[in-house]
Amino acid sequence: MIIIMKGSASLREKTAVISWVEEHDCKANIFEGVEHMVIGVIGDGRPLNREQARMMSGVERVVPVLKPFKVASREFKPTNTQFPLGDCIVGGDDFVIMAGPCSVESRSQILETAHAVKEAGAHILRGGAFKPRSSPYSFQGLGEEGLQYLKEASEQTGMPVVTEVMEPALVPLVTQYADILQIGARNMQNYALLHAVGRSQHPVLLKRGMSSLIEEWLMCAEYILSHGNTRVMLCERGIRTFEKYTRNTFDINAIAVAKHLSHLPVIADPSHATGKWEYVASASRASVAAGADGVIIEVHPKPDEAWSDGRQSLKPERFAKLVTQMRAIAESVDRRIPEVSPKPDPILLPA
Ligand code: PEP
Ligand code: MN
Repeated sequence: MIIIMKGSASLREKTAVISWVEEHDCKANIFEGVEHMVIGVIGDGRPLNREQARMMSGVERVVPVLKPFKVASREFKPTNTQFPLGDCIVGGDDFVIMAGPCSVESRSQILETAHAVKEAGAHILRGGAFKPRSSPYSFQGLGEEGLQYLKEASEQTGMPVVTEVMEPALVPLVTQYADILQIGARNMQNYALLHAVGRSQHPVLLKRGMSSLIEEWLMCAEYILSHGNTRVMLCERGIRTFEKYTRNTFDINAIAVAKHLSHLPVIADPSHATGKWEYVASASRASVAAGADGVIIEVHPKPDEAWSDGRQSLKPERFAKLVTQMRAIAESVDRRIPEVSPKPDPILLPA
């Protein structure tokens, strides 16, 4: 259940309610809103006396949370979660654009792509250094070397980096280089990994599992949030259906549903959702109109030569045109795509 304190509740009243929750072997998850303090009661499933909570001094109302996810729910936090990412505030009016290759292949490839996507208007650089491949014989990523190239590209362009982390033991390494940790679709329900990224307190991009229900996806976000890590973004990347023409079926409904059920920002991944570059622009434009908080798009200077996901990668020129189109659509739904700030020139020290 969720306990909403009166706007006028005193510190003593708030503390008394928190102590009451803890005395009943529950965790009090506190959210300080602009007007009210909201206390999310996280227990082990045993019922708590709601009437008793309602009668406590300073309590305005008590709302039962019938959904299995609590902290991720809009009931727990009615206002959108917002946090700064590079030149944007994700979850607010800004529409965030993340772009880059599927995999980091070499220093020159990631630097060239990073400059091209920045020039086109991207805010965040994507690129995989640890790749979850269906075949063990496919390219598995450059590992730490790839992370080093991403960091260099980030320093040159000023763009924060999002990259996938595949196992708990690698979380400390990846957090040294990356600004946002991506949990891939194949790892959505890797609970040890969810705990590890939750503990890291780093921003997380949580992809929806390829055959997962929206509720299961939100339950996974709940694992990360349960560590007090509030900077979680949900990512709809298409689900597996009977349709084989596209790689996945883009569940555009999921954007509106997730925004309705949860306060967390929702990012769309039109590249993996369609699997073919010629449909990426349509799905991206639709994502803006559907109310997503951003997109993550695969871009490669030479898609035909890409080591992974070349079939769904846009060339930089097409990506630049798409950003212009998304900008126009964003305005019509009261969103804005912030202009990217130029990277300041290095400070030249006097000789
Ligand atoms: C990726 O972002 O390159 C990736 C592997 O995505 P997903 O986990 O959605 O398949
Ligand atoms: Mn990919």
